[in-house]
Amino acid sequence: MKCIKCGSTTPPFIGLLCLKCYKPHIKIPKKIEIKQCKKCGRLFFSGKWQSKQKLNSFLKSKVKGSDVKRVEIEDNMYKIYITDDAFVKRKIPIIFVPSICDTCSKISGGYYEAIVQLRDKGLRYYNRLLKLLNKRTFISKIDDSNGYDIYVGSSKELFSILSYLKIKHYNVSKKLYGLKEGKRVYRITIVIRS
Ligand SMILES: [Zn+2]
Ligand SMILES: [Zn+2]
Repeated sequence: MKCIKCGSTTPPFIGLLCLKCYKPHIKIPKKIEIKQCKKCGRLFFSGKWQSKQKLNSFLKSKVKGSDVKRVEIEDNMYKIYITDDAFVKRKIPIIFVPSICDTCSKISGGYYEAIVQLRDKGLRYYNRLLKLLNKRTFISKIDDSNGYDIYVGSSKELFSILSYLKIKHYNVSKKLYGLKEGKRVYRITIVIRS
């Protein structure tokens, strides 16, 4: 086979043209701006702050065009297959914009919705609570002067963690903290002693 345009005999061929002469129909945005949190490194894409894990599939979804069969990412380049074995490479036009995510801005503002106080036998939950809280919400502060007082970002997540850990014996007290979108917002204190 011979390319009808340049005469090259080097495969692969797309129709009657070699890969160099073929102009594939591929659309890539001019730039893909992604906010990156300066504190925790998480990225903002697909409408939320998240870890880098899903970034590649997000970046792949930005490649459009009738010639795009499959997209891979290699060394920060798009590898775009236009047939099963012929591909072209394109630069990924990604720009990281330094920013602060909502969680980090709440942490630095000392935000919390609940305080968990571990006393006596309740202290044995410390490690497990810490691990789950860090995973599902955030901790603004820990005071260890008298047992542990853990300041927690989300009271909703806290209750779901308590039930996950099958912690049933605790005291709850509520304190009106303010109004948020017309609703009363409470700060909750939970004491676990047994
Ligand atoms: Zn050619
Ligand atoms: Zn952050």
